[in-house]
Amino acid sequence: MSSKTVCCSDPSCTEPAVYKIAAPWSNGVFNELKSFGFACADHLGPVFKQAESRRKVYHPTEAETVGVIGIYKYEPGKRDRQLQRLSGLENNYRS
Ligand SMILES: [Zn+2]
Repeated sequence: MSSKTVCCSDPSCTEPAVYKIAAPWSNGVFNELKSFGFACADHLGPVFKQAESRRKVYHPTEAETVGVIGIYKYEPGKRDRQLQRLSGLENNYRS
C-alpha cells in the first residue's frame, strides 16, 4: 500500500512536500488543520507568503473558526494532530 505523494505547491516544482502550511480549523464539531499550501525545502518562503495571503481572503462561515496559519512538518500518513508545528521557521517568514 502506497500513499499518494503530495507535491510542493509551487507551480514549477515537482518535489515532494516536506512542509504543510495550515491553520487550525473548526466547525464546532470537527477540528482539523485546514491546509493552505505544501512546500518543499526550497519553496517554503514563497509558498508560506501565498498561504498567508490566501488565509487573509478566506472568509469562514458563521460556524467555522480558523486560527493562525502555521508551518507544520509534513509527514505522509500522519494525522493532523500528530504533525509537529515549526514555530521557529514561521518567525523567519512571517511578514
Ligand atoms: Zn518546491
